Amino acid sequence: MKILEKISNLLMFQEGSIDDSYSSEPVVTTGSIIWGVLLRSLIIMLLSFFVVEQLSDRSAWWIAFFGFWLFAAYPAYKQFMQFNKRMADFQESTLCGSCKHFNSGGQLCTLYDEHVSKEHIPCGGEDWEPKESLL
Ligand code: SF4
Repeated sequence: MKILEKISNLLMFQEGSIDDSYSSEPVVTTGSIIWGVLLRSLIIMLLSFFVVEQLSDRSAWWIAFFGFWLFAAYPAYKQFMQFNKRMADFQESTLCGSCKHFNSGGQLCTLYDEHVSKEHIPCGGEDWEPKESLL
């Protein structure tokens, strides 16, 4: 059930929300954005082959290009911009955000291999170490 839910999230171009900052299972991360692009691109490619074949006109290749931009690249760009904005706020307002074990791309603690949130700090602050940029 969870896999189906994730696939539907990817296909529905979900942009995530501030709720992701409070969830230890964020809908949008860098990984989900990349998977979304790959999945949507594959579907667009398959559909394009079919459409171009039906039209019997190879010069209609631009349909695939347009579809890729409209349904894969642009939504991913929007998702990524929104994700970056949310992560900037997340890093400012959480202990994990200033820790060297925090991976912002995945909203992840690399030490515990768990998603962190504004309400869930896996180490409880005990393993916090400053980022090198803060030293
Ligand atoms: S070690 Fe602790 S403070 Fe650092 S990212 Fe992991 S959970 Fe957050």
